[in-house]
Amino acid sequence: MTLSPSASVSGPLPGSSSLQIYLNGELVPKERAVVSVFDHGLLYGDGVFEGIRAYNGRVFRLQEHLDRLYRSARAILLDVGMPVAGMQDAVLSTLRANKLKDAYIRLVVTRGVGDLGLDPKKCPRATVFVIADKITLYPEECYTHGLEVNTVSTRRTPSQALSPNIKSLNYLNNIMAKIEAGLSGAREAIMLSTEGYVAECTGDNIFYFKDGRLVTPPLAAGALEGITRAVVMRLAADSGIPVEERFFTPFDLHTADEVFLTGTAAEVVPVVKIDARSIGDGRPGERTRRLIAAFREVTQRDGVMIG
Ligand code: PMP
Repeated sequence: MTLSPSASVSGPLPGSSSLQIYLNGELVPKERAVVSVFDHGLLYGDGVFEGIRAYNGRVFRLQEHLDRLYRSARAILLDVGMPVAGMQDAVLSTLRANKLKDAYIRLVVTRGVGDLGLDPKKCPRATVFVIADKITLYPEECYTHGLEVNTVSTRRTPSQALSPNIKSLNYLNNIMAKIEAGLSGAREAIMLSTEGYVAECTGDNIFYFKDGRLVTPPLAAGALEGITRAVVMRLAADSGIPVEERFFTPFDLHTADEVFLTGTAAEVVPVVKIDARSIGDGRPGERTRRLIAAFREVTQRDGVMIG
């Protein structure tokens, strides 16, 4: 049976245990969670999103994620059409409906359904959906042995074109960078700014340790204001490690003592090889391992209760 995208169901069908998706104000089984082919999120990548984690019955840094979502929406003149409190309820009720305590949550707001032209004025209402699903963890060996990453030629979109601080649905340059990394035999790509400074990876921020200092690129180098980045910077500062945001080039990574990446999905993951150079002794460093442990600890106790 074919159902129109506007068909609404306010709960699982009898006997169905399908994943429940929040879509435009309602919870619908995933088979019915469909958006129009005229949605500008699909036609043009016109929209914003968040990736959020729930640990142990709590949503980690929910307020920070919602703030970033609404900042991104404001920056592209996208009216989300609902207040932050309503969005928080949408996230929590999606988790509850699916009885999830540890989950990955994808929150998406698109410009909505319009016509085939670019004009956002033709899109009267944003499309909002929340997917909460079981988390597929990165292979444990990524954490125990570390990752190999390569610098790629695809540059981070410059702020003159689109601010890298807008977490928009347009990830094509990151996808191209990821493809390039894969073709060169690495799992992840280091993306540079058009000036040649290290910006970040395709979906993670980057850090290095050198002589006891922790360094990460400033947002102006093209880094997203990562929420995991902020947590790690705070954890490091609280344990007495000097933390610096500064412009640097791949040379600084090649000669660093330790390198790691941060992101909601990856958490904190050590990097052991960059552009064929082993980092430190080629194994995850001690300071990185301590930060991983500290990060895991904070995720287990902080957050908004799902209820
Ligand atoms: N950079 C980019 C381009 C990203 O897409 C992400 C997360 N999706 C990050 C960095 C990491 O940000 P966060 O720690 O908030 O997940």
